[in-house]
Amino acid sequence: MKRVLIILAIITAAILVAGFYLWDSYDSKQLEMPDTYKTILERGYLIAGVKEDTKPFGYKDTDGTLKGLDIDIAKAIAKSIFRDENKLKLVSVTPSDRLIKLTTGDVDLVIATMTVTPQRMDLIDFSHSYFIAGQTVLVPVDSKITALSDLAGENAGVIFGTTAEKNLRTLVPTAKVFGYRTYNDAYKALKDGTIKAITSDDTILRNYALNDKSVRILNKRYSKEPYAVGIRKGKENKILLEKVNFVIKTLITNNSINHLYAKWGLR
Ligand code: GLU
Repeated sequence: MKRVLIILAIITAAILVAGFYLWDSYDSKQLEMPDTYKTILERGYLIAGVKEDTKPFGYKDTDGTLKGLDIDIAKAIAKSIFRDENKLKLVSVTPSDRLIKLTTGDVDLVIATMTVTPQRMDLIDFSHSYFIAGQTVLVPVDSKITALSDLAGENAGVIFGTTAEKNLRTLVPTAKVFGYRTYNDAYKALKDGTIKAITSDDTILRNYALNDKSVRILNKRYSKEPYAVGIRKGKENKILLEKVNFVIKTLITNNSINHLYAKWGLR
């Protein structure tokens, strides 16, 4: 009997020791996860996901380069990391692929007119907000549409994956929703009469009204859209998040952000 007890005690001790080692190696593996900030430093440049059809935040200029407020923020982050704003690779993203491109590691961060929402916060982390937009509607200048609710029963354009798509489906469930991947596709559909309106952020839609007198935006706002930089979750992304927050806070406290707003006609 005594022998059996001793054997049992040895087996229990062995299980405990094995468990301890397994847990310990799991924990050190966690610690060994490559830190994103270190990876960026070793690579020698930052990879930022930005828009290319969303003037004045991220758009392709006639010379083919990407420009806009979001791109200037990406440059400020690259400058803070490398003392050189050109140590930056810009990758085009759309509202429907930006979360995938971020979470799969195609980009280090996303600066793409992206609103902070509780649903997105379940998937990724956000920096401090650097701009606040609001949802509105773009219509032909002679349109009878005066409110979002007027889209009931009408063909209404949205950009797939945006907050405005979700809001429209919730607030006006009878609207016939036409989804587009890009703003330019939605705009073409508005111009050829396929849709009666486009709903999205005021700052993005206003640009179409500024450049085309045959369209206008409604004065009403249907949401508050705080824009922030998106970063992957996890402790290996913490240093990058702190760096981005430092850059945004500095832009705000030294007033550079207001110069950027003025540069891009935002205030
Ligand atoms: N701010 C809106 C969103 O995050 C629209 C953004 C966009 O079209 O990029 O869904």
